[in-house]
Amino acid sequence: MFDKIKNIFKSDKEENNVTHKNAPKEVTVPAHKIGPKSQDDTTTYVIIGASIAGVTAVKTLRELDKGAKIIVISKDENIYSRCMLHHLISGHRTIEGINFVDGDFMEKQNATWIKKATVKEIDPNNKKIKYEKDGKEEELAYDKLLITSGANAFVPPVKNLREAKNVYPLRNIEDAIGIKEQAKYAKNIVIMGAGLVGMDALAGLVEIDGIGNLSLIASEDRILDKQLDVKAAKAYEDKFGQKGVKIYKNRMASEVLIDEDGKVKGINLGNDEIIDCDLLVVSTGVRSNIGLVEGSGIETEKGIKINEKGETNKPDIYAAGDVTGTGIWPLATKQAEVAATNMAGGEAVIEDRFEFKNTMNFLGIPTVSVGFITPPDDTYDILTYTDGDNYKMAVIKDDVLIGFIAQGDISYVGPYTQLVKEKIKVDNLAERVFELGYSDFFKIKEDGQFEW
Ligand SMILES: Cc1cc2nc3c(=O)[nH]c(=O)nc-3n(C[C@H](O)[C@H](O)[C@H](O)COP(=O)(O)OP(=O)(O)OC[C@H]3O[C@@H](n4cnc5c(N)ncnc54)[C@H](O)[C@@H]3O)c2cc1C
Repeated sequence: MFDKIKNIFKSDKEENNVTHKNAPKEVTVPAHKIGPKSQDDTTTYVIIGASIAGVTAVKTLRELDKGAKIIVISKDENIYSRCMLHHLISGHRTIEGINFVDGDFMEKQNATWIKKATVKEIDPNNKKIKYEKDGKEEELAYDKLLITSGANAFVPPVKNLREAKNVYPLRNIEDAIGIKEQAKYAKNIVIMGAGLVGMDALAGLVEIDGIGNLSLIASEDRILDKQLDVKAAKAYEDKFGQKGVKIYKNRMASEVLIDEDGKVKGINLGNDEIIDCDLLVVSTGVRSNIGLVEGSGIETEKGIKINEKGETNKPDIYAAGDVTGTGIWPLATKQAEVAATNMAGGEAVIEDRFEFKNTMNFLGIPTVSVGFITPPDDTYDILTYTDGDNYKMAVIKDDVLIGFIAQGDISYVGPYTQLVKEKIKVDNLAERVFELGYSDFFKIKEDGQFEW
């Protein structure tokens, strides 16, 4: 039901149906990659993190440097797609079923994987990292280091929220398993936050037979306010409503009520409006995992600062993925591929940082949202088109498409994505935005290929 992704793991897992709300473009190993080095070359690459960025780096490094020593170190003991955690909650998939590479990926890549280990410190001067495993502190030397420590759920400072029991974020496998287990006994389940992660949690829970009462708290006037306008959001709100989900819009939790054992028992929405709750899922944003670089001199802002080659300000230290302050799978893949190529002596740059495309399919309604769909002022044109369950919406300024939503019929969104991404000016766009054809964008080159 979710769109399929083409990625560089195609050969590792025939199934290869990792699901994504952000449709990526096809990822290929850069054409300018350098050839394999000799077997005698023993550069030691250390990669922190074993998710999509870390795994992509392993694969790219091994392709480019056959003789290298590759060591991956991660808190995780499984490789899996976070985008599929809702399938674990619903029970439609197992842990093995959300792995996006073969079980013996690391062995096949001849990489050493230190699992269940937490990197505590990075020492760029002596080219070492310190990590903790099984209660012991260890050191590891590197020639080149890649940090792909990702992000973690942000839990806001609402009274009692951080201390209460039966409260889960949704970031890791352990969170999904915890939610699924507790959902068996919970009578009143509340999801705090109606962004993509919150909606994933809801979509997983709503599929469970005999599930308790489900409530969703949205801080705005609609769910998915970054991706959808009121009408597109309403299509989902109505569908979830038919499944018995109660949605509280324009509401923020002011306090979490707890019982004598410290377990959550209710959510105060302000003005003493209380929702009963014995299981709470918190999906209120993420923060990059940058604690491990503290004191190392590696520069950070929202995440670790990198240049277009994936390099940090410290020699031989690179970073990629959510730890750099980005938040989507395709960009983590691309950044890791670029960083690993440069680590191995090749040359690659990150050209495409476009993050604003989301493809979703909750309860059988497909939607694609591109760019900024909430204009900041009234100098933008907003145009809509409805045909039964099919809906389109466009935000235009000065003949440039700023944002676009297609719901129901999502065919033909590729050219619109290009218009938004490349900020292409189209004469009289507002008059014909829903009637554009491929011929409006492409011309045929002498060799028969299309070009803009
Ligand atoms: C529920 C959910 C749904 C999502 N859906 C989508 C979607 O539909 N489309 C999309 O594009 N994106 C989606 N995302 C975001 C996507 O999953 C992330 O962009 C992606 O996982 C980032 O990969 P990463 O490798 O940078 O980091 P992460 O996946 O966060 O992995 C970080 C790795 O670093 C390790 N680590 C962290 N700290 C340390 C440390 N100190 N020492 C050792 N190891 C450490 C962790 O164990 C882990 O292996 C979703 C995320 C969630 C949570």
